[in-house]
Parts: sequence; structure tokens; C-alpha cells
Amino acid sequence: MAHLDYPLRFEPILKQYIWGGRRLGSMLCKPIGSENDYAESWEVVDHRDGQSIVSSGPHAGMSLGDLVSQLPEELFGTKQHNRFPLLFKFLDANKTLSVQVHPDDAYAQIMDPPDLGKTEAWVVVHADSGSLLYAGLKHGTTQKDLENAIDTGTVADVLNEIEVADGDCIFIPAGTVHALGDGLVIAEIQQASNTTFRLFDWNRLGADGKPRDLHFKQSLEVTDFEKGPVRLQKSERIDDIREVLVECEQFQLQRWTVTAGSECDFHGHGGFQIVSVLEGAVELARDPSTSLLNMGETCLYPAACTNRRATAVSDSVLLVIQDGG
Ligand SMILES: [Zn+2]
Repeated sequence: MAHLDYPLRFEPILKQYIWGGRRLGSMLCKPIGSENDYAESWEVVDHRDGQSIVSSGPHAGMSLGDLVSQLPEELFGTKQHNRFPLLFKFLDANKTLSVQVHPDDAYAQIMDPPDLGKTEAWVVVHADSGSLLYAGLKHGTTQKDLENAIDTGTVADVLNEIEVADGDCIFIPAGTVHALGDGLVIAEIQQASNTTFRLFDWNRLGADGKPRDLHFKQSLEVTDFEKGPVRLQKSERIDDIREVLVECEQFQLQRWTVTAGSECDFHGHGGFQIVSVLEGAVELARDPSTSLLNMGETCLYPAACTNRRATAVSDSVLLVIQDGG
């Protein structure tokens, strides 16, 4: 089989949920249809609920799961994984999402079927002015307080609310109660999990006129009551171009801000890297040709890819994500 020595591109997987909108198409150029509920575009995923399919090159048509099982060393280098460990997606929160919490690995592994835990981080691609999100519980909120708030439909009163702007980053470890507010377009890196426990839906009804399913018991079991309110992430600058937004056990998230014409070199890490363009465009070097990675597009450098150079064709903002640990 051909070597995985080039940046992989995948077909985006669009998910439609009642809180979605049209900005995955209008802002990020995703191939949406005529409906008004395009909520998520899964860009890189290996999960039972979605499989990225390689869209071009010698491995076109193969799924990311196929690559994991057939070419694990070329994909991961010396690290070993049974599945691709991360999921990268864009979200259009046209309406406020339900208040939710995700389990950690230990809890998710004993579920049926088992899943990974879900630690995640968000970068705000676009925020309508005054947009809010909810991250963590107000200081001192106990389990009893949260149970009472659920019973009386007043969960909003115990949530830590943050007004956000373009470029803000929020880190949500497993066990942190959270919700995206309306008017936000978000880039999210998370563990490759699709396990969400909803604990409050703002007293709304679903599309069928009934309240959506909630998961009180599991939500309370996995919520970290010691966590308190989450603040905006403070980035750590590496140099003029690169800053580390989040460093955790599961992933490292960097942002690169580059000017038109400058060279990007993603070398220096032995494993895979996900590169996604939030603004502008870059031309990826690949033997023997080059290809543009435009705003809203994502590629995956396998560990075996030695040429990881790119040139910014305009002023650009990139997310660069690698394996944690
Ligand atoms: Zn979440």
C-alpha cells in the first residue's frame, strides 16, 4: 500500500440538530443543503457515529478507521492507539444548546457500548456581539443546589456565564457543566467520544412538542462539583507566530497567526498533527504538487509525513493540534 507521506484531506460530515443554522456554509464554506439546522461539521473523526473518508490522494475512499487498523505506525509513529483518539469539528450554535456534561474515561469505559471520556476545548471562530456561553458552576454550588435547580427549572441561576468574542478559547475538562449560547460559531477539539448527558434544556420543547430526553442521574454522577467557574484560557506564547492555547493529557492545541507570504513549518513533533484554517489560506507543500487549504478546511499530517511545510497565501490564523502526553 502507498505510504502515508502527505497531508490527508477528508470529506466533512455534516450533522443536523435543532440548534444549528446555516453558517457552516456561509462562513466556513461547508457543502450544506437548503435546511436551516446544520449544527456540526465533523472534520476528523474515527467513531461509530462518524467516520472520516479520505477525499483525495492514493488513499482516497478509505476511512480514518481503516488507516488506524492498516497503517497504525505511519499514522501514529511510536504511539499506539486502537482508534484515532481525537475528534475535530466546527459547530454553529444558532440557538442555545442544552446544558450538558461529559463523563471521563473511567465512567465512559463501563458504559454500554463503551466510549471514551470527553474532554474538549473551544475556540470562538465567530461570536455575535453579546454572545454568551456557560462553563462550570458558580462558586460553591453543591450537588444539592444543582438538584434543586433542576427540580425548579432554574439551572441558569447556578451556571457560570461568560461573554465571549472572536478568538477566545475555553477549556472544558470532562465533568464540567457547560452549554454554548446562541450566535456562536466554534472550532472544537475533543476526545473521540459522542457521550453527552443533558441536565437542563432551558424548559424548552423538542421538534415533536415534547421535552427532549434528559439524563439527571448520569449528569449528577459525572459532574465535578469541585471545579467551580471556568475562565477564558490564557494562552502561552512560544514566539511571534505560535501560542499554546491548551495543553492537557489528551491533546495540545496551538494557534498560529501568520502573515501573507510567510512560511509555516509544522515539523518538530513525531506524531500526527491536525491543521485547520480559521482565517485566510495556506498552500501545503506536498511532493510533487501543492494544494491550498482554505478557511474552514482541515488536514491531518500522519506521523509518516516528512514534508510539513506550508506558505500562507494571505494573513491567516491556524489551529495546530497534536496528541497529548
Ligand atoms: Zn460538550
